[in-house]
Amino acid sequence: MTMPSLLQTLIQEGLITPEQAQDVRDKQLGAKRPFGELLVEMGFIKEELLATVFASKFHLPLYNPKDIPDRAALKLLSFDFAKKYGVFPLRQEKGTLILAVSDPSDVMAIDDISAITGLNVNRVLATRAQVTILQMEGYQLDDTVYDLLKNVTSPNMIQLLKEEGNQTRAIDIKSDEENNSPVINLLALILGDAVRMRATDIHIEPREGCVDIRYRIDGYLKSVLKVPSNFMARLSSRIKVLADLDIAETRKTQDGRVKIRINQRDIDLRLAVIPTFYGEKIAIRLLDKEQAKTTLDKIGFEEYELNKFRTALASPQGMVLVTGPTGSGKTSTLYAALTAIKNETKQIITIEDPIEYLIDGINQIQLNINKDVTFASSLRSILRQDPNVIFVGEIRDRETSDIAFRASQTGHLVLSSLHTNNSVASITRLFDIGVEPYLVSSSLIIVVAQRLVRLICPKCKEEYVPNADHLELLRPFIGEIPLSKLYRGKGCQYCGFDGFYGRTAVFEIMEVNSEIRELIGRQASEKEIYKEARKNGLRTLAESAAIKVVQGLTTIEEITRVVDIARADQEQDQFQGNQEVLQIPIPTPIPAPVPPPTAILPDSAAKLLIVDDEESILTILDMRLRSVGYQVVKAQNGEEALKQVAKEKPDLIIMDVNMPVMNGLEATRALRSKLATAAIPIIMLTALKEKNDELAGLDAGADDYITKPYDKDKLLARIKMLLARSKRAQ
Ligand SMILES: [Zn+2]
Repeated sequence: MTMPSLLQTLIQEGLITPEQAQDVRDKQLGAKRPFGELLVEMGFIKEELLATVFASKFHLPLYNPKDIPDRAALKLLSFDFAKKYGVFPLRQEKGTLILAVSDPSDVMAIDDISAITGLNVNRVLATRAQVTILQMEGYQLDDTVYDLLKNVTSPNMIQLLKEEGNQTRAIDIKSDEENNSPVINLLALILGDAVRMRATDIHIEPREGCVDIRYRIDGYLKSVLKVPSNFMARLSSRIKVLADLDIAETRKTQDGRVKIRINQRDIDLRLAVIPTFYGEKIAIRLLDKEQAKTTLDKIGFEEYELNKFRTALASPQGMVLVTGPTGSGKTSTLYAALTAIKNETKQIITIEDPIEYLIDGINQIQLNINKDVTFASSLRSILRQDPNVIFVGEIRDRETSDIAFRASQTGHLVLSSLHTNNSVASITRLFDIGVEPYLVSSSLIIVVAQRLVRLICPKCKEEYVPNADHLELLRPFIGEIPLSKLYRGKGCQYCGFDGFYGRTAVFEIMEVNSEIRELIGRQASEKEIYKEARKNGLRTLAESAAIKVVQGLTTIEEITRVVDIARADQEQDQFQGNQEVLQIPIPTPIPAPVPPPTAILPDSAAKLLIVDDEESILTILDMRLRSVGYQVVKAQNGEEALKQVAKEKPDLIIMDVNMPVMNGLEATRALRSKLATAAIPIIMLTALKEKNDELAGLDAGADDYITKPYDKDKLLARIKMLLARSKRAQ
C-alpha cells in the first residue's frame, strides 16, 4: 500500500480531513519525512491511533510495551543504525530479527537491516515515541553521551606532549582515534573545563549507579557532572592509554604522569587509579607550569612579613621551616623562596618526593623509594657537592632531620616543610621526631606557619554593614578600630556563583631570637615559647586572617572555616588576662564539603526553572507545572537564570528568548559552554515564530522550541520526554 492510499484510508475512516491530507502532502514534498511523522507533528492524528491503523493496513502486530527486549539483540544493530532508520532490535528468533518500527512504509530500511545483520526481519509496529524510548533505554550509554556532546558548543583541543630528545612533539589526541569518539570528546571536556575553572584536581569516582566527576577549585570539591556507570570502563581505559598505564589491570593501584596541552596551555597531569568497591576511582592532579613561576610578593605576605622572610632567606646558613597541613600552600611558598634565592647566583640542590614543578637553574633530585634512595642517603651524597642551599621536601624521620640540621650548621641554608598546625608547635614536633634540642636551638632561623583563604571575587564584590556578632568576632584581632563596612561576593558567572575567586595565604611567623633560642635549648614548654614569641611580635594565624577581612580580601565566614577564630579569641582573652593558662590557638581542619545526593528523583519531583520577563506568564506556568507535581523555580532574565541554575541545579529549563539584561539565546549559550550545565535540557518558549528564530534557538543549544501561545499538553509532553532522556545523565 502506498502512502497516498494510506491517506485515503484515513480520510475514509474519518480520521483526517481531505484538507489535512493535502497539507501533509504539501509539507512532505519539501521535508522528505514520513507521512505518519508529519500527521502526528501537525496534530492531525494521535500517534497511538495511527499505529493501530498502520498495523491493520500493513498486517503487522502492534508492539506491546510489556514486551521486554532481549539485550543480546543490541549487538546485532548499532545505535547509529537504529537511530538512522528509527527502529529498535527486540530479539532474535532463530534466523529472524524481530524489529520494532514506527514507519512501516520504509521498506528500504528493512532491506538494509537485513543485509547488515544477515537475518530475515519481522516487524512489530510501535509509535515513534515508543521506538525512541526503546532506543534510549537499550543504548542508554551512547545516547546520553551523544546528547551531552551534541549540546556542548566549545569542545577543547587536547594534545599529548611527548619529549623526544630536546624536542617536544605535540600529538593531536583525536587523530589516532576513529573520528569524534564521544569518549575522547568527553575527556577533552572534563580536562578543558578543569583548566578553565582553575581546578587543581579532578576526581572521577564510581558510585552506586553513576560516576561522579568532581573538581577541586580553591581547595573545595565541586561536583560538576554525573555520567552513567557503564560509561566508566571506557573513560578509565581511555585515560590509562593517555598515561601509558596497563588497561587490563583493574585490581591494583596504578600511577602515571602525562603532559598535555589544552587551549595553548601546557599542563602536567599526575594520575592515580585506585580500585574501589564500585570500580576504579581516578584522581588527576593538574600541575600548571605557570604556578611554578610564583614569586614571594604574590603569595599574600604583608610587607613586614615578607621582610622577615627575606632576611631569613639571606642567611648564609641555618634552617628555614614552612609548616601547615596538606593543601595549605607550603609548596608554593618554598618554590617561590627557591626562585628568590636562585637569582643570587648560589648553588641550589633539592630532594623531593615527588618533584612538583621544575625550576630553571636548580638541581632537583627526585626521591626514588624503589631504588633504595632515601631522603637521608640522598642528603649525604648531596652534601659532597657542597651546595649553598638545600631544599628537603619534608622532614619526616629522625635520620633525615639529623642530617638536615647538621648541614644547616655547616655552611648550608636548609629549607624544609613540616606538617604542624602552628609555628610554635613545630618545635615540639621536631623534639618528637628525635632531633636534639641543641641542634634545633642553634640552627632554626624562622618558622612560617600558613593557611590558604579564598579571595572575594573581584567582579561581584559588595560592601555590607557588619552585624554585632561579626564585629565581636573580629574585635580581639583588630582592636577598637571602628568598622562600618565589610565585603563579600554576591556570586556571579565569573566565580561560578561562589562569591570567591582564587586564594591567598595567611601567615604566622616566628623568628627565632636569642631568648627563644635559649628556651628551645632547655626544652621549655610551648606556652613559654609562645609567650616569648608574642613579645617578639608574633602575629597569630587568626590575627593575620582577620586583617585580610578588614582589608576586604576575604570574608569572616571564610576565615572561620580555615582558622578557629572563635576559639583563638577566647584563648587570647586568657592570654591578656591570665598568662598562666595561655594556650596556643589550634586551627580546625577545612571541612570536606558534603556532596549533593545522587539519588534520581522521580519525574514528578523534578525541578524546573522557568525564565520569562513577563510576570503573568511566569505565574501561569508556575501554577500549571506545580499542579502536575513539579517543583518550580523562577527567573526574570538570562542572568538571573544562570544564577538560579548554579544555586538550584534544575532538571530542566523553560526559557523565553526576548528578555532584558541577558536574553535567552545568550543564557543558553552560556549554559551549554560549561560541562556542569551542558546537559540540562532547555525548552525555548517564545513568541518568535520565524524559522530563522527557531534555528537560532536550536543553534544556541536549545533541545526544543515551542512558540507562544503554547498548547499546555504539548508542553507537558515535551517536558516529560526531555526529563526521561536526561535522567540517565544525572
Ligand atoms: Zn563573582
